[in-house]
Amino acid sequence: MTPTALTHWLHALELRTTAGWSTFKEALSSGRGKGALWIALIALVMAVLTTLVWLAGRYETSQLQAELESDTAEAVGDLRRQLARQSQSLQGLQSNTPAEAFWSNEAQALLREHREWLRIESRDLGMKLKNQVDTPLRKPIFERTPRIDSLNETVQACSKARRINGPSYSSSYFLPQSDGVGFEVMEMCLPQTEDGVLIGFTIVTYGLQELLNELLGNSFGRRNEISFTEPDGTRLAIAGSQSRGLRVFTSQQLVNLPGNTLVFRMDGRRGEAHLFPNVLTALVTGMSMALITVMILLAKDSRRRLKAERDLAEALAFRKAMEDSLVTGLRARDLEGRITYVNPAFCQMVGFEPDMLTGKNAPMPYWPPEMVDEYRQRQAIRLAGNVPPREGFESVFMRQDGTRFPVLIIEAPLISVQGEQTGWMGAVIDISEQRRIEEVSRASQERLQATARLTTVGEMASLLSHELNQPLAAISSYANGSLNLLNDPQAEPQTMNDVHMALRRIAEQAERAGRVINSVHDFVRRRDQAREPLPPHALFDAVAPLVQLQARKLQVIVQTQIDPHLPEVMCDRTMVEQVLLNLARNGMQAMDKPGCNDRRLLLKARRAASNADQAWVEFSVTDVGEGISESVAQQLFTPFFTTKSEGMGLGLSLCRTVVEQHGGHLEFEAFMPKGTVFRFTLPVKTPPVLDKIRA
Ligand code: ADP
Repeated sequence: MTPTALTHWLHALELRTTAGWSTFKEALSSGRGKGALWIALIALVMAVLTTLVWLAGRYETSQLQAELESDTAEAVGDLRRQLARQSQSLQGLQSNTPAEAFWSNEAQALLREHREWLRIESRDLGMKLKNQVDTPLRKPIFERTPRIDSLNETVQACSKARRINGPSYSSSYFLPQSDGVGFEVMEMCLPQTEDGVLIGFTIVTYGLQELLNELLGNSFGRRNEISFTEPDGTRLAIAGSQSRGLRVFTSQQLVNLPGNTLVFRMDGRRGEAHLFPNVLTALVTGMSMALITVMILLAKDSRRRLKAERDLAEALAFRKAMEDSLVTGLRARDLEGRITYVNPAFCQMVGFEPDMLTGKNAPMPYWPPEMVDEYRQRQAIRLAGNVPPREGFESVFMRQDGTRFPVLIIEAPLISVQGEQTGWMGAVIDISEQRRIEEVSRASQERLQATARLTTVGEMASLLSHELNQPLAAISSYANGSLNLLNDPQAEPQTMNDVHMALRRIAEQAERAGRVINSVHDFVRRRDQAREPLPPHALFDAVAPLVQLQARKLQVIVQTQIDPHLPEVMCDRTMVEQVLLNLARNGMQAMDKPGCNDRRLLLKARRAASNADQAWVEFSVTDVGEGISESVAQQLFTPFFTTKSEGMGLGLSLCRTVVEQHGGHLEFEAFMPKGTVFRFTLPVKTPPVLDKIRA
């Protein structure tokens, strides 16, 4: 690659890397990035783990190999040391030229002692056999193959021994046996000297197999397979254990002997390197896995927490918005009566800031000072555990500027998550507007009633003029007559009596006229609504003159029927009189039709059905007029419904309002054979005893 091409290539690589990095950063910052980050993290941890396990495995393998190498070196050293020691022990055999028999015995003893020695020969300088002993532990080894065939190896070894003046080993060779098998042997030639002069050789034949077994088998053959091999790997002799299914580690070393070099091989069969070779690696791996698991769990948990937090924040925001938009004041108190919470509506209502209220106990800043004692008692009752009425109770609070205003308080126990009562929660509604509307409605009702009364008065005006005509005419004629009598100079004493009589008549008629006017005046005069106990006949008596006024005009006979011993009724006199008057007037007008000759109006009062709580008196007005048709009946109590040309249509609706305000009810039904009965009830004055019981 030329330098220019290299520069281009580097530039391109840099571009690609920069692009890759920015893509990675983008991915991280996006939602997709979080997933990628997780995958990268897990991959990284996995890679670290795998590397750790692999390195640990390799380390263990190298440890095993090193261990085997050192075993092999130790075995080779051992072998060499023992062979040297054996050659020394062989020296004893040739120390002084022993007798032949002695030599044989000594040699046999040595052969018994060294099982790896198969044969000991003693030869002279011309390699002629002087003496020989075969191991007593097995058959003579040169039975099948003549000794002469292998003598060449021995000669070479001995010539080397002569040269180095010390023990020398021949190369190994295979020695077939008469039983069909054979084995590898090696010879050691030790020069024999006498007074420093070489006189012959002592030759020991080693069985390689036995050499391994006897010299190394015990110490190295238990866990390893030990062998001598050719340089090309062909085994010459094998010893040691040959366990299967295990991994083999091999180590080879040369055994340098004078005259021969053997290849010693050790095959160590060891278990596979463990996946987790030692406790530390296992611990680190385990902890890493635990770490990943914990991280995943934490991530899941934090996601769940985040969601819960978001939901909670939304719920809180929702609750706050709800509280802020409420016009109902909310006030929570603990079990000691201390305010624990107030909402903005409540603060607005009483004009105090939340921190001026929370934590406060009785007397509250919004209690009117004159009510403090009463409110304290009420709070004590509440804190004693008495549940307030569900529909709430009315009270009066005071704003910060000192103005009082009526409130409706609905309280309920405040129950905690554990199901225990922790205080009281009260909803407070400012009812001053409601009170104002009620007042306006009451005033307009009163005005309407006054208007209705005035209408009745208007109707009565013509009747009055007619009614007053008679007494006034009588008064005028009596007055004129009296004047004439008084002006008459010849008046007799009798005349004075007549004048007296006339004046009495005048007084009577004036009184009568006055009564008529008073009855109207009483009726029209507005009085405060006040209920008082009244005997039923008093009500009839009060309206009788006015009823009579109209009855006379319409030629109606008015009858009154009152049950004896009727109790007093609690009523607003003026109102009930107007009801009676309206019903009587309607009844009389219903009979004022051509063809209706028998005109009678019956006013009745009697006991009505009562219950344990309240006794009632029933009043009824019965006429024998035209009756009420179905279509009229449906709208009878609708304000401004009338069938009369000069009617206002307010009479019956007012009657019903008045009766219902007294707790009674107004109804009507047809009277047979013709006419209508209107009935209404009024409450009997409760005996004081009953009053007490109720209280
Ligand atoms: P008004 O007398 O000014 O018409 P009311 O409310 O007193 O107003 O009566 C409404 C209507 O009910 C009357 O116009 C009349 O048609 C009918 N009505 C009331 N009382 C009787 C009665 N006793 N018999 C028949 N009709 C009646």
